[in-house]
Amino acid sequence: MRTFFVILLFVQLSVPAHAAQGLDVYCIDVEGGQATLFVTPAGKAMLVDTGWAGFNGRDADRIATVAKAAGVTRLDYLLVTHYHLDHVGGVPQLAERLPVGTYVDHGRSVETDPEAAELFHAYLRVRDRASHLIVRAGDRIPVEGMEVRVVASTGQGITRPLTGAGDPNPLCASTKSREVDPSENAQSIGILIEFGKFRMIDLGDLTWNKELQLVCPSNLLGRVDVYLATHHGLDESNSPAIVHALRPRVAVINNGSNKGGSPEALQTIRTSPSLEDIWQLHYAQDAGKENNAPEPFIVNVDQESSVSWIKLEAQADGQFTVTNSRNGKTKTYLPRP
Ligand SMILES: [Zn+2]
Ligand SMILES: [Zn+2]
Repeated sequence: MRTFFVILLFVQLSVPAHAAQGLDVYCIDVEGGQATLFVTPAGKAMLVDTGWAGFNGRDADRIATVAKAAGVTRLDYLLVTHYHLDHVGGVPQLAERLPVGTYVDHGRSVETDPEAAELFHAYLRVRDRASHLIVRAGDRIPVEGMEVRVVASTGQGITRPLTGAGDPNPLCASTKSREVDPSENAQSIGILIEFGKFRMIDLGDLTWNKELQLVCPSNLLGRVDVYLATHHGLDESNSPAIVHALRPRVAVINNGSNKGGSPEALQTIRTSPSLEDIWQLHYAQDAGKENNAPEPFIVNVDQESSVSWIKLEAQADGQFTVTNSRNGKTKTYLPRP
């Protein structure tokens, strides 16, 4: 009996006071950029990208507001997928609002024009004040409370299948490569997040040919529950060969009113074999009503926008719930049979 009480006391002490049961993910609206905040049950936080620079720190303010509401006072990791304005631009402003433990990136920028160089150096000035980790395909990012596997970086993808993956992909035969993309998009860090049986993928702005490396001729990634649509749901990414191989149940599109959420990409996602719902940060003005998700699944339905997000709450058994901060619309997806 005494042993039992000692064990009970130990278990109670091991659980932090505000421990959540699941993994919380906030897809924060930064008007067609990326800012995705992961908060683990161990109380650790990782932010992927910081939105745009400028606008009086608009995107950094939005991220800080969501972080505060989530009880996050420090970012243990800030992952920069690549050095484009809508991803790395907000880093200096955000660093003034939230302390960062470790910056994670792919190393040097491949873009050297004066504007890109200035953006990269503004990032380096902030990054060099904290610890820094360069990651490559196959690496793990050690965030306590979830598994984060790097599946792409600097244009190189993983070369061996993840556990349970590796099936031949019949869509490769009908999918043609495109022109080489020399931009930072092709350098994007892509990550696969696992929390128990729950799987989610975020490939940054990875473009067509680099996506294909991951799923052709065989699918090295396996299936996911949630697909954060690559490159804001633009047609330069999101080939059927990758989207349909991933078999997502839910896709989240981090688009703006006039950026991302392209008709062809939305059609590819919607026709993916296991897809149940698409959730969007904005109504995509150019995609037409037939390609946009139904209104309750869209956070910003007109061009006027406010601080808002799509929240995912995942459980270790694979169940997850998605919530739209505008209208409180919420839906729970039970574990796959
Ligand atoms: Zn982007
Ligand atoms: Zn980009």
